[in-house]
Amino acid sequence: MIHVVHHPDYVAPAPARSTYRWNKNGLIRDLLRDEGERLCWHEPEPMPARWLEAVHDADYVAEVLAADVPAAKTRRIGFPVTEAVARRAAVVPGGTWLAAKLALEHGFAANTAGGSHHALADTGAGFCVFNDLAIAANRLVEEGAVGRVLVVDCDVHQGDGTAALLAGRAEITTYSIHAEKNFPVRKARSTLDVGLADGIGDEEYLATLERTLVPLLDEVAPGLVLYQAGVDPFVGDKLGRLALTREGLVERERLIARLMRARGVPLASTVGGGYGDDAVEIAQRHVTAVMTLGEGFA
Ligand SMILES: [Zn+2]
Repeated sequence: MIHVVHHPDYVAPAPARSTYRWNKNGLIRDLLRDEGERLCWHEPEPMPARWLEAVHDADYVAEVLAADVPAAKTRRIGFPVTEAVARRAAVVPGGTWLAAKLALEHGFAANTAGGSHHALADTGAGFCVFNDLAIAANRLVEEGAVGRVLVVDCDVHQGDGTAALLAGRAEITTYSIHAEKNFPVRKARSTLDVGLADGIGDEEYLATLERTLVPLLDEVAPGLVLYQAGVDPFVGDKLGRLALTREGLVERERLIARLMRARGVPLASTVGGGYGDDAVEIAQRHVTAVMTLGEGFA
């Protein structure tokens, strides 16, 4: 049984003048529904404001929840924060936190949204409003659900917001493997950053991931891994710069699941980047990631 977290508010209607692919979460839900009895569905609560404010500035949290975000921040986010987008922003971190709690119980669980790794303390950025990874990691540690959390970010873009928001936290470690020349131009400092040259393919990517992640994993010995499973290292991704094949992405998820399972580390995944004209194909890549990770824990 693969535990997946979804909420109807994940599927927000597209705000006017938005180029962001708003139907992705709905397509992921539909494709996962086709998997039938193999999945167990869970619905999260919105993340309480005090946990949003534990990571983000209270003023910014208030701006988002009131759907009253200043124009400069709206530009950095990349779409307007309407009331529906605000509801989505609050419930997605609730979903990542719930996936983590389910992973602690069952070994693996997936949030069907999230991975909003560019969001910073006082503003969103790069299609991210609230940083669900940082919010969930902080709450899990503060509530004593787990002693140490490792955030593993395999999105092709650096997890700069997560790194900045969690810097200096003894109980939380951040790892990001990304295309060095890609957005964001100015990188933050994760506990471990692995910047890759443009055009790297399956073999070198997978070898580099294993070679750099394993020592960190063994040093930290986390009680939980939060995994940002962005699919934008794919060769055909519009915002990618790397050259992983579909099979390479599948191998990545098999590797992540195998490493965690071998060490008895619970794994909670989120989605992440994935950009192109064919929204169904991108959603399918996310669904393949969830199913591959889940099968790795079966
Ligand atoms: Zn990305």
